[in-house]
Amino acid sequence: MLFSKSFIPILKNNPSEAVIKSHQLMLRVGMIKQSSAGIYSWLPLGFKVMKKIEQIVREEQDRIGVQEILMPTIQSSEIWKESGRYEDYGEEMLRIKDRQNREMLYGPTNEELITDIFRTSIKSYKSLPQLLYHIQWKFRDELRPRFGIMRCREFFMKDAYSFDLNDEEAIFSYNKFFLSYLRTFQRLELSAIPMAADTGPIGGNLSHEFIILAETGESKIYTDKRIFDVSSDNTKLEKKSLNDLRKKYETYYAVTDEKFNKSDFEKNIPEKFRLSTKGIEVGHIFYFGDKYSKPMNASVDYQGKKEFVKMGSYGVGVSRLVGAIIEAKYDDKNEIMNWPMSVTPYECAVIPLINKNDNLNLEKALNIYKYLSEKKIDTIVDDTDENFSSKIKKFNFIGIPFQIMIGKKSEGDLFEFKEIGKDSKNLSIEDIVKIIINKKK
Ligand code: ATP
Ligand code: MG
Repeated sequence: MLFSKSFIPILKNNPSEAVIKSHQLMLRVGMIKQSSAGIYSWLPLGFKVMKKIEQIVREEQDRIGVQEILMPTIQSSEIWKESGRYEDYGEEMLRIKDRQNREMLYGPTNEELITDIFRTSIKSYKSLPQLLYHIQWKFRDELRPRFGIMRCREFFMKDAYSFDLNDEEAIFSYNKFFLSYLRTFQRLELSAIPMAADTGPIGGNLSHEFIILAETGESKIYTDKRIFDVSSDNTKLEKKSLNDLRKKYETYYAVTDEKFNKSDFEKNIPEKFRLSTKGIEVGHIFYFGDKYSKPMNASVDYQGKKEFVKMGSYGVGVSRLVGAIIEAKYDDKNEIMNWPMSVTPYECAVIPLINKNDNLNLEKALNIYKYLSEKKIDTIVDDTDENFSSKIKKFNFIGIPFQIMIGKKSEGDLFEFKEIGKDSKNLSIEDIVKIIINKKK
């Protein structure tokens, strides 16, 4: 991509309406544009990052055997009346009437719709488990939308649903998602802590929130630092191994402030391992048994009897993750954004120093661009005549992890190359490609 032809509307100053880093930065480097309160358009830079996150989330769902579907954003109120949530959901639900005066709504979540899909087709226990997911826009009319896409009204979510015959099988499904979430956040280079979450009115059920540490997070958290050392590597996709993994996490105290108890915190954790900080909820998994299957009559035949299926649901805030990654990775001191290689909007920036009446550096830059593109390295070239130092600053700000500067320091076949935040060195283009490709693995 040539910068001069790109749609990256960078702002000169921090927008005054933004109070947290991710919101400021996303507006400043033109990743998003607000269209109305809590509703955003995703511009090329932001959309690229979100698509990459979406793809990682998708691959990790597929890996545990969840099947992808796509449900609509607009739902009928009928099924919500069946489950009893139509009234309960209150003002967060955006209600719409169509021209026939039918009550419709913009889905805030999909338990009812998926239960309806399931019950019309699946009749035998032999078809279980069924694990289904989709990645789709949701709408929740949040009382106070804030922090940009972190708490907005229209947001992009991966939501999955499991259907099983009994508690044991359902918990097996739950644990698969538990592992899948650990793997997903690991690929995004985030340390996410699974925290036992409030289960609401139906006690005894199982729920974890996945929280990443960030000073600007909305959840206050209290945890044992040793939880960061638990590893999910080599966990097999079988009952015992998955249960052991979850139990390993659960041996460490980790709660949000709703469940916080000072004396438990101090009793359970030696002082040097205590951590109280803030975090951002990026995922939530929930086992709720027959909460929806019973009122909506979703059952299978098992040994001549009708059994209501046992269900769970599993959400990841795909669009929220874009902001959450910024909050977790931004280097405040040097004003540098550190995108993980797996989701960076571009992998490499080529930055030529362009003098009037001299096209040599630009030509070199375009040749390098061509070469890197052949090597499947996603590259942007700054072909504008902006001055050299502000170009460099701009790409640190956007956070492109690798940069090739073609200025006074590059000589002959060697180019000034740096990994963001580190010192530069002169290298041949072949060596540069090796370094980038190695980092992509
Ligand atoms: P929160 O406690 O942050 O309001 P929630 O508990 O209402 O979230 P869930 O129903 O568990 O959210 O939704 C699953 C995921 O969707 C959350 O973990 C979060 O990452 C994301 N999410 C929820 N609400 C929003 C929102 N208003 N804006 C952006 N992402 C959201
Ligand atoms: Mg939640």
